[in-house]
Order: sequence, then C-alpha cells, then structure tokens
Amino acid sequence: MEVEPFSLPLSTPLETAAGIIETRRGFLVRVDIEGTPGLGEATPLSGWTESRPACEDALRAVDDPTSALSDNRLADTPAARHAVSLATLDARARAAGRPLYRYLGGDGRVEAVPINATVGDGTPEAAAAAVETAVREGYPAVKLKVGARDPEADLDRVTAVRSKAPDVELRLDANGAWSERTAKRLLPEFADRDVSVLEQPLSAGSLDAHARLRDRGVDIALDEGVVEHGFDAVLAADAAAVLVCKPMALGGIDVARNVVRSARIAGVDAVVTTTIDGAVARAGAVHLAASLPGLRPCGLGTGGLLGTDLRSDVAPVTDGKAAVPQGKGNIPPR
Ligand SMILES: [Mg+2]
Repeated sequence: MEVEPFSLPLSTPLETAAGIIETRRGFLVRVDIEGTPGLGEATPLSGWTESRPACEDALRAVDDPTSALSDNRLADTPAARHAVSLATLDARARAAGRPLYRYLGGDGRVEAVPINATVGDGTPEAAAAAVETAVREGYPAVKLKVGARDPEADLDRVTAVRSKAPDVELRLDANGAWSERTAKRLLPEFADRDVSVLEQPLSAGSLDAHARLRDRGVDIALDEGVVEHGFDAVLAADAAAVLVCKPMALGGIDVARNVVRSARIAGVDAVVTTTIDGAVARAGAVHLAASLPGLRPCGLGTGGLLGTDLRSDVAPVTDGKAAVPQGKGNIPPR
C-alpha cells in the first residue's frame, strides 16, 4: 500500500469552534486488490478524527489493506480507516465494472444528489443576501451557522433570512453553543419561522438534554454527538431525529452507510456531510449519498472551500445538486 502526503490550502481561512483552518492536510492511499488499483483519502480533522501523525502511523503500519479492515485494527483511527476502506471499495467496484454507488448497493442510475448550501456567521443582512444567492443558484436547502453571537441576534438573522427566502428549507447549526434553557426558549421561535432542523444545539456530551428538546416543532439533529457517543447511544437515548454522518469521522463510507441504514430502520433520518475533504473523499461521500435513496439534501458542496484540490472537481455542483460520477469505481484513475 502506498501512502502519499498532500496539503490543500483553503480558498479563505475558515473559523470553527476548534480554531481557524487554513490548510487541509492528509494522505492519498493507493492499494492493489488482486491486480486492480484503488485510491483512497485520509484527511484528519482536529476534534473529529485522530491527529495527522496518528493517522500517518496507522497508515504506514498497514501491509495488507483487506486484513487491516477485517481485523478492526484501524477502529481508533477513523481517517486512516476511511482511506483504506475507500481505496479497497474503489478497487472492488472497478473490478466489478460498476460505479461505486452501484457497488455499495444503490439501486438504479442516480444522476445527482441534492445538497445544501452553508451560510456562516454574519449580520442579518449578510445572512439574508447569502441565502437569497443560494436559492437563486438552485439549492433546495440552506444551513445557517448560529451560536457565534447572542441568541436574540441569531433570531434576528433567522427572521431576516425568512423574509427574503420564504420557501427554502432552512436548517440551523449551533455547534453546541447553547444551554438547554436557551434552546428551549428559541425552539418555538424557530418553529414559527419554519426552521426544519436544529443541529447540535447543546454540547456533544448531553444526549439526555437533547432528547428533552425533541418534539418542539423543529427536528433535532446531532453531529458532534454522533462522533462522541456513537450512533447506538444516540438512538438509545432518543436524542435526535436526524443524524449527521461524516464518513471521515465515522471511519469510512461503509461504516457511514451502515449507520444511515440502521438509523432509518429505527425511524431516524440522516444526512451525509464532508469534513472539508479533498476530491477523492468528497466523491466517495457523493457515491455514499447516491447509494441511499431519498436522503435529505446533504452537506457535500464543500469543494469550493479549497483553493487547490487533489483533482478537478469530479462531482461538480449545479442547481443545488452534486453530479454522481458514473465511471467504474469512485473516480477515474490517473
Ligand atoms: Mg454540524
């Protein structure tokens, strides 16, 4: 197995709860499965996966990718496991002569998957203008980041967005910024403004408190909470109506697919999102979404955040949808 480091600068530095991200650094992984090549990507993200040195150590210790996956030794290094799993699935789908989403179990041809636009913090006027632009570009759903300013200011932003974009599906992501009391006060206001989903209102630790926010007119989604507790615990606590599934943080598109399918059997919906990955992992996430019919719009339109990429975009976004690659495997080999 070959391991090749890469470094991708963001087009604009991104402020997150875990600090400012300027560059996404990771590893391309090349495997050969019974004579067929496969390509995978590990792009660790602080706070979500193992560190980059731990990822590199785990990848360099892999001799046989198939046994590394079957003996579970990459369980504590999800980004490394993601790369090995994606490379192996890419090779197997290629050998089978099928696009990856069909090889994963997708039924029938899927041309594109709907995605959401993401709007960061900003004034009410800036938020409303950004959402109007997203609607004009055809996005069926918009996720607005909240929690960086006081709750009343966020409510003003949501009100401003709704006045300019009355029909778009509107989701909010608080990244754990609020107390239970604040969330309970805001939820009826958000329901009045037809917000569909409130993602991670409280810190990741509090599953029971999230469960107490359910059934107040807005679906509660967990993101950080899924990675911290695992989806079994989230389902057992009845803490979410929607799971946000990040393949890089969950350990691979195969793991993420099992999470989504198990959640749906339990009556919980899911969306797939990236962790600002390069083109190889992003395409893998698009295949994953395409293999799961009827998903809500997913957070897969993150390619534009990168200043340079591993490949020219292989799942380009038009009209609020990411095109699904139709060649053999994940993306064409180079
Ligand atoms: Mg989130």
